[in-house]
Amino acid sequence: MTPDEPAGAPHVPGCSEALVLLMGFIDGELAPEDIRRVEDHLAVCPSCRAEHAAYRRLGHAADALATEEVRVSTEHAWERIYDRLTRSVGWVLLWVGLTLILGWTLWELGSEFLTDSEVPMVLRVGVGTFIGGLLLLTINFLRERLYRRKTERYDEVIR
Ligand SMILES: [Zn+2]
Repeated sequence: MTPDEPAGAPHVPGCSEALVLLMGFIDGELAPEDIRRVEDHLAVCPSCRAEHAAYRRLGHAADALATEEVRVSTEHAWERIYDRLTRSVGWVLLWVGLTLILGWTLWELGSEFLTDSEVPMVLRVGVGTFIGGLLLLTINFLRERLYRRKTERYDEVIR
C-alpha cells in the first residue's frame, strides 16, 4: 500500500475483474459461478459496492428514459387518431344532420303544395323535381366533401 492511498478504500485483490463483470452482473447475463464471484467481492469491497450502486442507478435512469419516450410517442399517436376520428365523425354528423333538416323542410313545404289540386299539374311536377334535384345535389356535395377528407388524410400518410 502506498502512503497516499486512503485507508478506507482497500484494494482487495480482484477489483478489476469484478468491475469487468459488473455490467453483466447487473444485466443478469453472467454464469452462476461469475455471479457468485461478483457477490463475494461486493460483500468485502465497499468501493466496488458503490460502483455497483451507481451502475444500477444509471440503468434505472436509462429504463425510465426509454419508458418516457414510448409514452410520449403513444400519446402523440392517440392524439392523431383522436383528431382524425373527430374530424370524420364530424363530417358524417354534418352530412346526416343537414340532409335530415333540408329533407324535412322541403317535404313540409312541398307536400302541401304538391297535393294541392288547385295548382296546375305542370307546376307541381316542376317543383317536385326541383326539390328532388336539390336534395340529390346536397347529398352529393356532402359526400364529396367527406371523400376529399379521406383522400387528404391518405396523402398525409404518404408524405
Ligand atoms: Zn473491489
